[in-house]
Amino acid sequence: MKTSAELQLDDDGRLRHLLTTEGMSRELLTEILDTAAQFAPVAGAPVKKVPLLRGRTVLNLFFEASTRTRTTFELAATRLSADVLNIDAQTSSTSKGETLFDMQRTLEAMQVDMFVIRHGSSGAAHFFAQHAAPGVSVLNAGDGRHAHPTQALLDMYTLRCHRPDISQLCVAIVGDLMHSRVARSDIHALRALGAREIRVIAPRTLMPSGIETLGVIPYTDMDRGLDGVDVVMLLRLQRERMRGSLLASPGEFHRAFGLTERRLAQLGSEALVMHPGPINRGVELAGDIAYSPQSLILQQVEHGIAIRMAVMAMIIGRGPTA
Ligand code: ASP
Repeated sequence: MKTSAELQLDDDGRLRHLLTTEGMSRELLTEILDTAAQFAPVAGAPVKKVPLLRGRTVLNLFFEASTRTRTTFELAATRLSADVLNIDAQTSSTSKGETLFDMQRTLEAMQVDMFVIRHGSSGAAHFFAQHAAPGVSVLNAGDGRHAHPTQALLDMYTLRCHRPDISQLCVAIVGDLMHSRVARSDIHALRALGAREIRVIAPRTLMPSGIETLGVIPYTDMDRGLDGVDVVMLLRLQRERMRGSLLASPGEFHRAFGLTERRLAQLGSEALVMHPGPINRGVELAGDIAYSPQSLILQQVEHGIAIRMAVMAMIIGRGPTA
C-alpha cells in the first residue's frame, strides 16, 4: 500500500493530492511557498479574483469544527474563480448511516474536481485519495491527530516572510504534542527546510513516547526548553481528543507551560510567537501576547489564503498568470 507521501504525487512527482508534509521534498515545499508568494498580491487587488479555476468545483467537507481553515479554503477557491460547495457533515447523510465511501461516490457523481476534507479520524483524507476517481483531487484539511499539511505550509510561509533562512532557526513547539496534527506537520516541514534545531516542550502526559525519532529534542521543563529559541509555536490543548485526565487544570498548565510576559521577555524582542488558532487565552499564552508585535498569529491566518490558493492551483490549475 502506498504511503500518503507517495499517494499525493503523480507519476511525474507533481502534486495530485495534498495529504501530508511527511516525506515532502524541500524542492516541492519551496515550490508551494514560492507559488503562494505569487498569489499573495491577489488579496490586495481591487478585484480579488483570478480566473484560474473557472468552471471547476471544489467541495468542502468538514466533519469537525473549523473557523480559519474552512473559510480560508473557501476564500482561496472563490478567489481562483472555482464554484465552491460547503457540506456541513453534521447535516449530511453520514448521520443517516451512509459510509464515507458511498458519500464520496455520490459526490463524485456530481462531477466535483476537488475535495477538501477535515475528519476526526487519522487517515480519512488518505482513504478519500485512495478511492478518488481519475481527475479528482483530495486536500487534507486535518485528519485526527495525523496531519494538517496546509497549516504547516502556511506556518513555513509566515516564518520565511520574517526569517528567510529557516536553516538558522531554533524552533520550539509547545503544548499538546500528543494530540496535535499541526505539530506533526510542522515538524516534518521544518525538517524538510533544514531548521537548525527543533524542540518540543510538553508535560510528560502530553509528550508522545519516541517523539525524538522525528528529529526533535523533547523537554518537559518550559524554561529550559525555551532557552535560546528563535521561534515559539504554541499549541492548543486538544481536549476533544483527550480521554481521561491528562492535565491537572488549565491554570496549572499555564503556570508550567504557558507563554507568559515574563517568559517572552526572557526570549528577547527578536523572538517570534506563532499559534495555529483557536487560541485559549490564559492557557497556552497570556492574553496580551496574541496581538503583540512579536506575534505572527494573524499573519498566519492571512497567509492561509495564499497557501491554499497555491496548492489548489498547483493541483488543478497552472499558476497565477495562466
Ligand atoms: N486549528 C488547528 C487544527 O485544526 C489547531 C487546533 O484546533 O488547535 O488542528
